[in-house]
Amino acid sequence: MTVALRFVGSGDAFGSGGRLQTCMHLSGGDGAVLIDCGTSSLIGMKRDRVDPGEVDAVLVSHLHVDHFGGVPFLILDAQFSRRTRPLLIAGPPGVRDRVEAVMELFFPGSLAVQRKFSVEFVELEPRALTRVGPTSVTAFPVVHPSGAPPHALRVEYGDRIIAYSGDTRSGRRASSRQRARRISSCARHTRSTGR
Ligand SMILES: [Zn+2]
Repeated sequence: MTVALRFVGSGDAFGSGGRLQTCMHLSGGDGAVLIDCGTSSLIGMKRDRVDPGEVDAVLVSHLHVDHFGGVPFLILDAQFSRRTRPLLIAGPPGVRDRVEAVMELFFPGSLAVQRKFSVEFVELEPRALTRVGPTSVTAFPVVHPSGAPPHALRVEYGDRIIAYSGDTRSGRRASSRQRARRISSCARHTRSTGR
């Protein structure tokens, strides 16, 4: 099994470096997965010829728009593309309310439309292993106020484990979640040279 991790976007909320907002695409396992889905993610996927219709699950680290604001666009694109396969959205408690609030704000009436596919929301509890589509996810609390508990994520996918910090604060004594952040930071740095 060859697992591929593509950095569709590695930027922040403010377009620093001209990069798109956070979105990582996992493929090669039993279905494609996004880790975070910032507002610009659909643009990035279409630019990179990544089929949004193949995405089975989205794992959201925290509820800032540059990490989950692309979910409404993903859902609406799927609706217009006549998607039939289910879509899973996993994130902090309250993820469903926040996604639906954004959908209604951006596209009034969009929640009332009958879709040919289901959208199922999964709330991640801290330190609990949760099966989400082709992944097994463990969420770890971090420090980053965003209106709902923010998480670092440990993602088991195929024969790989991905550690991702999301956004968090670092300190002098690195905890396990902060060490995860460093791994992610290295990955982001590597990607930033090419995007
Ligand atoms: Zn944030």
